[in-house]
Amino acid sequence: MVLECKHVWEHISGYLDGGLDPELLRDVQHHLDHCEICSAVLDSTRNILILTADDRTFTLPVGFSERLHARLERAFAEGLEVDA
Ligand SMILES: [Zn+2]
Repeated sequence: MVLECKHVWEHISGYLDGGLDPELLRDVQHHLDHCEICSAVLDSTRNILILTADDRTFTLPVGFSERLHARLERAFAEGLEVDA
C-alpha cells in the first residue's frame, strides 16, 4: 500500500504516540524514509507536541488540528517550492 503525504499526516500523531497498527506503522515509516516533506512535517509536529504537552499528556488544545493543518499545508507548499 502506497501512502500519499496527506494520509501520512493524518497518522503522524498516532505515529509519535505509538498508536499505529504494525502494518500501518511500517507503511508510514517507509514513506517517511523517502519523503523529505513528511520528514520535516514529522519534526515540526514532534516539536509542537513537546511545546504543547503540559503534564506529559498528549491532550491537544482546542484548535490544534486546524492550526496543524494550516502548518502542514504551508510546509507542503514550501517543500514543493524548494523542490522546484
Ligand atoms: Zn510525504
